[in-house]
Amino acid sequence: MELLVVGSGAAYPNRPGTASSAYVVLHDGAAICLDIGQGAFAGLAGRLEPADLAGVVVSHLHPDHFVDLVALRHYLRFEFHPPRAVRVMAPSGLAQRLDGVTGEVDFAAGSLVIEDREVGTFQLGPFVIESVRVTHTDDSFATRVTLAAAPDAPALVYSGDCGRAADLAPLVRPGDMLLCEVAFGPGPVPVPDLHLDGAAVGRLAAEVGASQVLLTHLQLNRDPAATLAAVRAGYGGQVALVSDGDRVTIGGSPSLPADNCG
Ligand SMILES: [Zn+2]
Ligand SMILES: [Zn+2]
Repeated sequence: MELLVVGSGAAYPNRPGTASSAYVVLHDGAAICLDIGQGAFAGLAGRLEPADLAGVVVSHLHPDHFVDLVALRHYLRFEFHPPRAVRVMAPSGLAQRLDGVTGEVDFAAGSLVIEDREVGTFQLGPFVIESVRVTHTDDSFATRVTLAAAPDAPALVYSGDCGRAADLAPLVRPGDMLLCEVAFGPGPVPVPDLHLDGAAVGRLAAEVGASQVLLTHLQLNRDPAATLAAVRAGYGGQVALVSDGDRVTIGGSPSLPADNCG
């Protein structure tokens, strides 16, 4: 499997060209997208065929994680005759949120096949998705992605937005790659139970035996170098802060983005 970072930004990035949360997992021509925040559609459509996605997996219903489903729906509906459709696994209530954003009843109908997401596992194409609840909104999930054909191979674990690192521990097996939000950077944590800081991520990664840590979702004005140092204070493995466009092989030897190993 390969990870393609389409959107590494937090809720309001200020680096031009940076999209909010969107991470594509690829394998043998199949792809799924984990979250699809603002600005992500262009990065997605510029790199692969969005209509061919085996699914979109939404971590929680904050707009920086789902709002470019609006663009995806328009694309599927207006660029294809007949329209195409993509499966979307999301916390309960997504369809109503999209109706509210757009002012259209049944906005997603026919283009986004929305299914409620719960704790447990489901399959999208060749990928097996395992979910646990995490502390953030009332209905937030972290995600483990592996291949149905290789269930024991190292997986990707994506934190989504997560206010307590301990919530992620049951999902991570030794050797997994951890793609983890570090919104509060080097800390301190200004609001409890909302996002993680570097110290919390470092402690978690060491405890669960992650093979490497990819940091993302860093909020505005949080220092990247100090954030990396905070993670490394607790974790001796490889750590990098990802950027839009990065591609990383999941499993096998460590393969962090060459330009930002920090
Ligand atoms: Zn977020
Ligand atoms: Zn959030």
